[in-house]
Amino acid sequence: MTVTYEDVARANGLDPARLDVEAVVPMWNAAVSHRAAYVARCRTTADVQAAVRTATALGLPLSVFSGGNDWLGRAVRDRGLVIDISEMTTIEVDVEARTARIGGGVRADALAKETESHGLTPVTGTVGLVHVLGLSLGGGYGPLAGRFGLACDNLLAAELVTADGSVRTVDAEHEPDLLWALRGGGGNFGVVTAAVVRLHRIDPVYSGLVVYPWSQAESVLTRLDPLLTSAPDELTVQTFIMNGPDGAPSVTLMPTWSGAAERGPEATAAVTTLGDPISSQLGPTSWHAMIAAAAESFPPGRNAHFRTRNVASFTPRVVRRLVEAGASRTSPLSALAIHHFHGAATRVPGTEAAFGERRPHRLVEISGMWEAGGPSDAAWADRVHAALADDAMPGGYPNLLGPNDFDQVRDAYGAGAGRLLAIKARIDPDGVFTATPLPMPGR
Ligand SMILES: Cc1cc2nc3c(=O)[nH]c(=O)nc-3n(C[C@H](O)[C@H](O)[C@H](O)COP(=O)(O)OP(=O)(O)OC[C@H]3O[C@@H](n4cnc5c(N)ncnc54)[C@H](O)[C@@H]3O)c2cc1C
Repeated sequence: MTVTYEDVARANGLDPARLDVEAVVPMWNAAVSHRAAYVARCRTTADVQAAVRTATALGLPLSVFSGGNDWLGRAVRDRGLVIDISEMTTIEVDVEARTARIGGGVRADALAKETESHGLTPVTGTVGLVHVLGLSLGGGYGPLAGRFGLACDNLLAAELVTADGSVRTVDAEHEPDLLWALRGGGGNFGVVTAAVVRLHRIDPVYSGLVVYPWSQAESVLTRLDPLLTSAPDELTVQTFIMNGPDGAPSVTLMPTWSGAAERGPEATAAVTTLGDPISSQLGPTSWHAMIAAAAESFPPGRNAHFRTRNVASFTPRVVRRLVEAGASRTSPLSALAIHHFHGAATRVPGTEAAFGERRPHRLVEISGMWEAGGPSDAAWADRVHAALADDAMPGGYPNLLGPNDFDQVRDAYGAGAGRLLAIKARIDPDGVFTATPLPMPGR
């Protein structure tokens, strides 16, 4: 008698009706070409357990899909079984405790919308379409990091389905090592089917965009440097080198003030006087409105090739390199997005989270992007990455690093690398889960 994949699924507790064959999984980056053999549409933790067991029984590579926003498409392994948790979107807010218990597939803007109705705000990235756990497991930079730490620093507990199909409760009391690993070590330990995240009570943020013309790029970036270095925790300034609203290259600054609302205009004023801006549109807004609006600027369906470097500051040479990078883009969609890492995020001790770089820095996200079918700008991103090498700090942001960034991956977890690999060997000895790259043992 022939045993079908349906039989295997059923025997492992997975309803075959929830297992699609060769279904297309939507990826943010249209350049991702690998395709799933099976997609298990999971709605419950039991579904996820059954899907993990089914993948093992079928001998298939396994991956976890939440939103498909990883630029390398790591939510899908070629010819493998994808555990699709995008329907696991419950959100329960505990107003008193200022926490939310969320399903593994919750989007950042959905969480922010729900918590806003309770007067509370989660720590997310800048763009609402990114999913909370995919972001948090790798780190989670965003405009609230200066005040409340990275998204991973606000991850309090998790329900984790591990490679043997069992469920573990992960929190500071039960599995402190695993909690530490999940805070920055990526989706390398199992499927986070649910999590508890910390929420914050803040005023509406004061934010928006200040656009400087390209002719002032060098002087604006030079003057921005001391402002970034001395910014209070409540002020984070993101820098974009990209085409402005008129289609011409620009330095666009996005200050976000998360302190007392009435102080917003005064706290962000210095960002508007670094040169003569073409436009300056700042004002109060809710966190949800801000990240939901940003999502519209980064729609899925374009081709992307990302690289990343961390720099400690904008030295004259770094500024020159950034300006050269802006001028040499060959696609109007390509950009540099520079995240400001300071304040509370720098004060989290290495004992709390696997995320490895706590010194103040600026994360340069080198975003080669082009329309599907158009000429590639991948070589530009690679050139900029190489040009910044001499001025970069070791390591880099795991959510953006690729498997071939050996040196950066080796250094990304600093002194925590050994502990992270020991936990990986204990929890997932056969390497069933592969997400963001981990350092090679012994390197
Ligand atoms: C438009 C855009 C804006 C971005 N902005 C920011 C930003 O402001 N700050 C920042 O830090 N990063 C940012 N990123 C990067 C982003 O954080 C990562 O790409 C992140 O991994 C996406 O997670 P996802 O769940 O949305 O996508 P997916 O591709 O579905 O997941 C990414 C990885 O995480 C794993 N994973 C996801 N959920 C789980 C889970 N519950 N359990 C186990 N593994 C899981 C997946 O298997 C995969 O390997 C941005 C990316 C994009 C495309």
